[in-house]
Amino acid sequence: MAPPEPARRDRNTGPRDLRGKAAAGDGRSGIRFDSVTVAYGRHGEHTVLDRLDLTVEPGEVMALLGPSGSGKTTALRAVAGFVRPVSGRVLIGGRDVTGLPPYRRGIGMVVQQYALFPHMKVAENVAFGLKAQKTPRAEIAGRVTEALEMTGMAGYAARYPRELSGGQQQRVAIARALAIRPGVLLLDEPLSALDAQLRSGMMAELARLHRELPDVSILYVTHDQVEALTLADRIAVMDRARLRDCGTPQQLYRRPRTEFTASFVGTANLLPVTVLDDGADGGGRVRFGGRTLRVPAGGAAAGAGATLCVRPHLVGLGESPAADGNTLRGTITEVQWRGATHRLYVAVDGHRFMADLRELRETPALGDTVALHFAPEDAVLIPAGLTEDGARDA
Ligand code: ADP
Repeated sequence: MAPPEPARRDRNTGPRDLRGKAAAGDGRSGIRFDSVTVAYGRHGEHTVLDRLDLTVEPGEVMALLGPSGSGKTTALRAVAGFVRPVSGRVLIGGRDVTGLPPYRRGIGMVVQQYALFPHMKVAENVAFGLKAQKTPRAEIAGRVTEALEMTGMAGYAARYPRELSGGQQQRVAIARALAIRPGVLLLDEPLSALDAQLRSGMMAELARLHRELPDVSILYVTHDQVEALTLADRIAVMDRARLRDCGTPQQLYRRPRTEFTASFVGTANLLPVTVLDDGADGGGRVRFGGRTLRVPAGGAAAGAGATLCVRPHLVGLGESPAADGNTLRGTITEVQWRGATHRLYVAVDGHRFMADLRELRETPALGDTVALHFAPEDAVLIPAGLTEDGARDA
């Protein structure tokens, strides 16, 4: 029996084979930023990415999270090859790609506005990258079908983009990125043009795709902390051109090392305190206004200024039931009903303190004085003057 011709074999490939090829493509890829700096202006005076050092492991989803203008997209475009760093190197799969044009980097990219070619049918859109890569003609149809199947769009190959909903267009854009079997997938705010319900459905889809393509490294730019917390293995927090923090979602949420991380990843109460006792012999103690509060041991040296971070959902109403718990008293300045919870804003010694409370029988009134409590182990002490990479500010 004659061996099957390559074209036939490829036409029969399904998602499983795509996964295999992605892994086999150019090995397990991974991305490394090696002190990457990008600057604009006539004399390069506007640094928009400042010595970024970051590694995305093969198969890892790394979210770049930060406010608008912090340099996230610039970092992603430096990987894609659309932005040339003024210094530093970008490596993909251990290979220095800093000087390579985009089409030679083996990356797939999806941007916010889909960027489908309006005059091309879905199948032609998905085939575009394959043609640019000079994939043999006989292979293209099979690869297009395979990518459309992965994104649940197999029945739409003959449509034009204008005949699709926003969510469907984004699926086609993802199929187009996957068709070339990239080792690296770059996603730039891929869900922000979708409405809330579609967005949550697409988040689940992206998580599924990642499970099906476990060797593809994904760099995911977003300003939405829910997307970052939900999808990422690790989150790199960016602010003003710098990497400020990097860790798993749980690390950043539960043990933020900086005020910026505490307030950008989740919601945080941040109280200025002075350390009384670093807790070497047990629990630590800090001074806040006229009170002493108990905190976990080992946060900072006695006498130092620090910030106490308490998540609003870990705060309870009333005096602390435990003898070693912390109680704060203040005046309610605002009450927000949020369905499952009430959020109380309480002024404590002139500082705003938020509590997310479940199942309140009576809605507290503005101007009421209330007691709020939290457990020492639910507070995180953030030492003052630490920059985000762990070094002390000058
Ligand atoms: P983010 O993705 O975090 O919103 P960007 O990486 O898009 O941020 O932009 C970072 C900064 O770089 C912004 O201040 C932006 O105005 C600036 N910037 C981006 N692209 C250019 C460009 N081509 N020329 C000049 N400035 C730019």
